Amino acid sequence: LLGSDGAVRPTIFAEMSALASSTGAINLGQGFPDEDGPAEVLDAAREAIAQGVNQYPPGRGSAVLLEAIAAHQHRFYGLDVDPQREVLVTAGATEALAATILGLVEEGDEVLTLEPFYDAYGALIELARGVHTTVPLRSPDFLPDHGELRAAVTDRTRLILINSPHNPTGSVLPVETLDLIVELAHRHNAIIVTDEVYEHLTFRVAHVPIASRPGARERTITISSGGKTFSTTGWKIGWAIAPSEHITAILAVKQFLTYVNGAPFQPATALGLGLPDEFFVSAAATLERKRDILSAGLSAAGFTVSRPQGGYFVIADAAPLGYADAADFCRRLPELAGVVGVPLSAFCHPRMAAETASLVRFAFCKRVDVLERAAVQLAGL
Ligand code: PMP
Ligand code: GLN
Repeated sequence: LLGSDGAVRPTIFAEMSALASSTGAINLGQGFPDEDGPAEVLDAAREAIAQGVNQYPPGRGSAVLLEAIAAHQHRFYGLDVDPQREVLVTAGATEALAATILGLVEEGDEVLTLEPFYDAYGALIELARGVHTTVPLRSPDFLPDHGELRAAVTDRTRLILINSPHNPTGSVLPVETLDLIVELAHRHNAIIVTDEVYEHLTFRVAHVPIASRPGARERTITISSGGKTFSTTGWKIGWAIAPSEHITAILAVKQFLTYVNGAPFQPATALGLGLPDEFFVSAAATLERKRDILSAGLSAAGFTVSRPQGGYFVIADAAPLGYADAADFCRRLPELAGVVGVPLSAFCHPRMAAETASLVRFAFCKRVDVLERAAVQLAGL
């Protein structure tokens, strides 16, 4: 995890945000919203602090949040979850992923992910001394091929780690693919880990949690967080939902990673999970409009643009503009257009270099005026 000079290698997101601030370019690199989420949720955190919710919360999480997470699973997905035994609050989805992988993967175990993959997956598998195997997602739809998926799951596969809606590509796994993953997990005795942090941010497609598919519950660890849904990425309130024996394994690690986290943000996130349906519908609709604004701007500028079905990001191909190397293009983009994006190769092993060479990830979770300004600037390319 260190660079060849012995220094900490900054994540691609930190590097791109630093590039945006040093050049003054519009940051469509790191995926975080530039507007606050619902006022009730923010007020609830202030209120919790004022009421003295400032010491260590219980190890599994505040009762009010455990119950809200279980109630949310029932309300949106019809799943019955025991809040005391089958839920664990974590420091963001990141800690849930870390504690899951460190708790369940032994040296040499295979962990299968989709590729491109969120950067933390690769680093965490490395920390656990696991073996990272992948199934490619290719443009234009960025969905896994079922034959390749079948071939990739073996008796050595300990975890099948999926992410839908997907960062960085915006694809949403269809039910047939979820069912195939469940079938393969059963056949090879693998555990399914599903990262659903963008669960409420889908565009005219339903989010189907894999845990809701037949035969999945008993071998699935569902991970999510409040950061994306409530635009509170800095609060780092995440959770894992799983059969109690898996929660025990994850808690055993979590208690020594952070012990507990975010006391006043836990009741505030609980309040968010109970907001009326209109909040969730309008959050997705607002983001869909932003997707369309940025996508139209990128198309008008000459990029070939993907059509994400969920999440924060759109993939744009710079090849039609004459840029074959997206990494080089992204380094120059602040100067060329005053915009920052992330080369898709940052989410891939070198074996996918050729397929991703000219592809760039742009974040659209930004204010409409910012996206419109970005579109104008990109038009000058
Ligand atoms: N998984 C994915 C796919 C993400 O995009 C993110 C946020 N960038 C995370 C996990 C981390 O979530 P959190 O901030 O809750 O730790
Ligand atoms: N999830 C965000 C992204 O993909 C950033 C999170 C981070 O910086 N670690 O851009």
